Amino acid sequence: MSRRGGGPLILLSDDAQRTTGRDAQTMNITAAKAIAQSVRTTLGPRGMDKMLVDSSGNVVVTNDGVTILSEMDIEHPGANMIVEVAESQESEVGDGTTTAVVLAGELLAQAEELLEQDIHPTTIADGYQRAANEARGLLDEIARSVDIDDVDTLEQIAVTVMTGKSTADYSAELAEIVVQAVRAVADDNGRIDLEDLIIKQGTGRPIDESEFVDGLAIEGEPVGEEMPDDIDDARIAILDGDIDVKELETDAEIELTDADQYKEFKEAEQESVRGAVDALADAGADVLFASGDIADAAESYLAESGILAVDGVDQADIARLGRVTGGVVETNAEALGADHLGTAGEVSIGTVGNTDVIFVEDGATSDVGTLVIYGGTDQILDEVERAIADTLHAVQVALEEGAALGGGGAAETALSLALRDYAEGVGGREQLAVEAFAEALEIAPRTLAENAGHDPVDALIELRASHEGGSTFGLDAETGGVIDMYEDGVVEPVPVKRQAVESATEAAVMILRIDDVISAA
Ligand code: ADP
Ligand code: MG
Repeated sequence: MSRRGGGPLILLSDDAQRTTGRDAQTMNITAAKAIAQSVRTTLGPRGMDKMLVDSSGNVVVTNDGVTILSEMDIEHPGANMIVEVAESQESEVGDGTTTAVVLAGELLAQAEELLEQDIHPTTIADGYQRAANEARGLLDEIARSVDIDDVDTLEQIAVTVMTGKSTADYSAELAEIVVQAVRAVADDNGRIDLEDLIIKQGTGRPIDESEFVDGLAIEGEPVGEEMPDDIDDARIAILDGDIDVKELETDAEIELTDADQYKEFKEAEQESVRGAVDALADAGADVLFASGDIADAAESYLAESGILAVDGVDQADIARLGRVTGGVVETNAEALGADHLGTAGEVSIGTVGNTDVIFVEDGATSDVGTLVIYGGTDQILDEVERAIADTLHAVQVALEEGAALGGGGAAETALSLALRDYAEGVGGREQLAVEAFAEALEIAPRTLAENAGHDPVDALIELRASHEGGSTFGLDAETGGVIDMYEDGVVEPVPVKRQAVESATEAAVMILRIDDVISAA
C-alpha cells in the first residue's frame, strides 16, 4: 500500500515513508474505520463489554469508548485522529464517546463510496461540513427544554448516561444523588461549577450506600463528651492552628507527689487555655474547627461555653470551611473575634459509612456539596467514580444549555430525515455528500438494533415511519420496537449529541483532506 519515495523527495531522508493520493486516503480511512468497528459492539444498553489486558497483565473490563481506546495503545495516525474524537467528547461533555467514534467511522465509510464514484474529497468534505452546520440548527429545533426544577427529566438523563456502564444496576440510586449534587451547586444563573462538589470515597460498603450531603462533611468528632451535637444558625470559628497548653513556669520536670499538687497542676494548665476559649466565647462562636490539636485541658471549658469543638481537621476542609461559611481562617485562637466567624444553617454530628463526620449545611457564602461514594473494592470504586464523573458532567451540560432530546437513536433519525429533505435543495455533487451524511447518522439506531439482536433494516424502516408522529421516537433496546423515548425516560443532553456530530465530522473531514502521509522512519 505504501510506496517509498513517491516523487522527487529531496527533503526527505531515505528512511522516511511516504504515501500519497488515494493510497493515503484509503490507508487512513481503513484505520479509522477499524477503530470505529472495534467499539461498535459496545454501543447502547445491550452493548457488550471489552476485556483489555495490558503488557503487565492488568485487566480492565469496560464498555466505555474512551477507556477502551486509550487502553488500546493505537499508533496509526489516522486511527489516532478517531481516538482524539473520543477524548474530546469525554472532556467536553462526559458522554457519547462511542456514538461519536462510530459516527466518524461511518462518515468515512460513506465517503469511501463517494470516492469510488470519483467525487472529489474536497467536495465530500464541503458537503459534510454543510450538513453538520445544518444539523446544529436542527438539533435546537428538536430539543425540549429542561430546567433545574425538572428533577424527573434530569434523573432520566443521568440514568441514560449510566446505561451500559458497569454501575448500571445502581443507576437509579446514583442518578438521584448526582442530580441532587448538580442542583445543589447550581447558582441562580444556572451556572454549575463542579469544583464546588467535594467527592469523598470509601471501599467496603455497597454502591447504593453512596450519598449526597448538601454541604460539607468534615471528618472528625467532637473533642469532648458534653458538647452540643446539633446547632442551628451556627457561628463558626475556623482555626488553622492549635489550642495549646502554655509552657508552665518551671522548666524542670515536676514530680506530682500528691493529689493536691496534681490538681494544682491541672488547674494551671486549664488556666493557660482560658484566654483562647474566652476569646471564642466572647466572639459568640458555637463551633470551633481546628486543623491542629485542641489540648485536653480546653475540653471542659469549651463544653461549658456550649461550643462544639473538633480538632485535626484536614487542611483542605479548613480552607473550604472559610469559603463556605464566610468565616476568616485564623491561626491564633486568642485573636478570633466576632467578625472572623462564619455561619451555617446547621452544624450537626453524624456518620458517613463508618466514619464520624460533622455536617456543615447551608453555609452563608457559597453552595457546596459532598458526594460520598462507595464501592466494594478499589476496582469497583474506580468504576463508580468514573461513572459519577461522566454523569455529573453530562447533567451539568444538559442544565447549562437547558436542552435535551430523545435517545435510542431518536435524535439521529430525526436529523437524518431532516437532512435528506435539506439535501434536495443543495444540488450538484455536494448534495450526494449531504445525503451520505444523512445516511451515516443512521448508524446509531442501526447499531443499537444490531447490538440488541434485532434486525437493523426493519428497525430503521419502522423508525423512519414513526417520525411522522414526532422526533422523539427511538428504539426500545429490550423489544426492538419503536417507542417515544421521552415516555420511556431515555433522554440525552443536546450538547452531547451536538459534540458527537461536530467532532465526528471534524475528524472525517480532516482525514478526507489528507492526500500525503510522510512518516519519519
Ligand atoms: P456512548 O459512549 O456513545 O455514550 P453508550 O454505550 O453509552 O455509548 O450508548 C449510548 C446510546 O445508547 C445512545 O444512543 C443512547 O440514547 C442509547 N441508550 C441508552 N439507554 C437506552 C435505552 N434504555 N434504550 C435505548 N437506547 C438507549
Ligand atoms: Mg454513554
